[in-house]
Amino acid sequence: MASNKFDVEATTLMVEELRGTFNAGKTRSYEWRVAQLKGIIKMMDDREQEIIEALRLDLGKPEFESAVYEIGMLKSSCARALKELKHWMMPEKVKSSIVAFPSSAEIVSEPLGAVLIISAWNYPILLSLDPIVGAVAAGNVAVLKPSEIAPASSSLLAKYVPEYLDSSAIRVVEGGVPETTALLDQKWDKIFYTGNGRVGRIVMAAAVKHLTPVVLELGGKSPVIVDSDVNLKVAVKRIIAGKWGLNNGQACISADYIITTKDFVPKLVDSLKHQLEKFYGINPLESKDLSRIVNSNHFDRLTKLLDEEKVSSKIIHGGQSDRAQLKIAPTILLDVPEDSLIMSEEIFGPLLPILTVDRLEESFDFIRSRSKPLAAYLFTNRKKLKDEFVRTISAGGIAINDIALHLVVPSLPYGGVGESGMGSYHGKFSFDVFSHKKSVLYRSFVADAPARYPPYSQGKLRL
Ligand code: NAD
Repeated sequence: MASNKFDVEATTLMVEELRGTFNAGKTRSYEWRVAQLKGIIKMMDDREQEIIEALRLDLGKPEFESAVYEIGMLKSSCARALKELKHWMMPEKVKSSIVAFPSSAEIVSEPLGAVLIISAWNYPILLSLDPIVGAVAAGNVAVLKPSEIAPASSSLLAKYVPEYLDSSAIRVVEGGVPETTALLDQKWDKIFYTGNGRVGRIVMAAAVKHLTPVVLELGGKSPVIVDSDVNLKVAVKRIIAGKWGLNNGQACISADYIITTKDFVPKLVDSLKHQLEKFYGINPLESKDLSRIVNSNHFDRLTKLLDEEKVSSKIIHGGQSDRAQLKIAPTILLDVPEDSLIMSEEIFGPLLPILTVDRLEESFDFIRSRSKPLAAYLFTNRKKLKDEFVRTISAGGIAINDIALHLVVPSLPYGGVGESGMGSYHGKFSFDVFSHKKSVLYRSFVADAPARYPPYSQGKLRL
């Protein structure tokens, strides 16, 4: 079955076929895994322009962002896996115990079996294929369900994945809720879901039925604390790149809101306005360097956040929008009420509220009083503040003096905590998350200790 049309029976048959491939052992060899990783790189190279075009159709994504943050990141993920795979696959020798003397012990990474990857729309190529990198590197068969909200990217994946990867082991199923529900009804060895927490709960509930482990890559409100002791010019450029430069704020680890001090906020706001104009011009709705909003539902959701009565008067920069083109300008709001909608839900778009406090330390309590975010950021030169932030703020990941860049360090695990998700991937963590770590103990027949065998006695207990 090539992929695609929703059908419960066909879904069951597809999973059976995939399990047949897995059980035949085809996906376990080093060579098979390498061929799939090379296939992904070749697909990126051969189809680069078509991918850029699909991302332009789905999101108006600037070519630079598509080339760097989707294609480039995916290729470097494959390249790293290719470089390290032999080493990752090797059993890890570990110390045995005196209780089992003489013996040796090792941890063997084995593939889990059949895995389901459900992906989101905002980075529709990267978020679909990067988990596949981990799944195939670890020797699994997989079904990928891209997001229907990015239809051009989804159909591109359905068209080219079978051409570049082994379709007896990797399938793409397009569709929305009914198709995903049918997939979730199957028995999987792992479900890897990227998206919002509401659906994350549906995924987890479905997984319970078969006792399937899940990875949930969710979102949240990622805060940015800005101290007055900073290199303001650099900080502001990085904040803009980490907010509007990431898909116009439609990124899970982009800056959701800023907290700074009342004294410092005028300087910060001036600098943000100045730099935004330098980057995107005086009419940002015309800028070719900003993605548009993905669809009218999300456009309406975002403008509703701005329309709330207690919020609309707080706009100090931007605020322009064009529904016909699904564009919203970079917008800054100052001191919105904490109980407003914009401060209650993840923004996931080009709106940036700034909250102010008397002493910066108060911002730590504010963050700690809310759900644990996917990312938390601090801009400061002060070592004491950095130390306290890292020690006391719980988040999926932290970057100091930058935004989102921790994501590109493959030796760091990428994932959430609490409401922002569970499980992590990237680099070797991607291999590990799709592997079972099997404990293996090797014993010989020599030196068999009689004390463990009955009849038991007080004397044996004292040994
Ligand atoms: P989305 O609407 O594309 O949904 C994600 C997936 O869930 C899709 O494949 C969709 O078909 C499926 N889905 C939707 N409703 C479903 C249902 N009722 N039952 C089963 N499946 C269903 O994406 P989204 O949720 O709007 O994505 C945005 C969210 O994802 C944000 O919260 C963002 O922070 C988060 N996100 C997280 C990461 C990460 O790496 N942690 C990356 C991107 C996005």
